Amino acid sequence: MSTDAPAGTTHPGHRPGAPAAVQLVNVSRRYQVGGGTVYALRDVNLEIDEGEFVVVLGPSGSGKTTLLNMIGALDAASDGTVTVAGRNLTGASRAELSKLRRDTVAFIFQTFNLFPTLTALENVQCAVEIAGQRRGARAIAEKALTNVGLAERKLHYPAELSGGEQQRVAIARALATGNPVLIADEPTGDLDYRTGVQVLTVLKQQADAGHTVIVVTHNREISRIADRVIELSSGRVVSDGPPLGGGAAVADLRW
Ligand code: ADP
Ligand code: MG
Repeated sequence: MSTDAPAGTTHPGHRPGAPAAVQLVNVSRRYQVGGGTVYALRDVNLEIDEGEFVVVLGPSGSGKTTLLNMIGALDAASDGTVTVAGRNLTGASRAELSKLRRDTVAFIFQTFNLFPTLTALENVQCAVEIAGQRRGARAIAEKALTNVGLAERKLHYPAELSGGEQQRVAIARALATGNPVLIADEPTGDLDYRTGVQVLTVLKQQADAGHTVIVVTHNREISRIADRVIELSSGRVVSDGPPLGGGAAVADLRW
């Protein structure tokens, strides 16, 4: 067995030569609570290739959100190193972290986080402009909404859209920035089955189109559409590999 491979490159889904989108080496995240130490993540090693569709599974409190926040440069490791799109976040300045959040990672949250006073189109356009693309922002936003099947709803306000439609606006907003690493924290957690399926369909399409997609969920069924499942328990990676019953289409999922 080769001993010179960097930590994390030996996971089962690794395609030789594929560039790493994300790499964590010996990452822990500790909190001091009431005189004791709580580990939200403990000695995590993993590497996610460009274009992989990864589901992160684990019960509440297992460290899923903490892991996404590390990858999204929203939180810093207590120990170890985090590298995203070739940039080492350890010791990066606030300005560098801000640039990474702007240019590399796109966030999708459980609760959509749309501006209620802006239309679907304005919500997406605003994100494109913040990402630095002033010229043509409206056209980019319209295309992103068309890609998630919402061309007809673009002038609607969030309150006039269903939960699934609002989440698809949030996905369009994430995609319109052109950032290559899509991270979603419980994106179907607030949705019923039917609208959840619409959202997963869009995420799967993005993965098939070459984006790196990392979806956190506690719904094991969702892992069947992923290339790979990473399971967390008490802040540790307890398994990492292809999903059981994998290769499923979104339409095959039941919960
Ligand atoms: P998950 O998203 O899987 O539900 P989290 O990543 O939110 O889990 O949390 C992992 C663990 O870290 C939990 O035990 C949680 O209580 C702890 N934790 C998270 N944030 C803090 C904090 N700010 N202070 C203390 N403990 C925290
Ligand atoms: Mg969470």
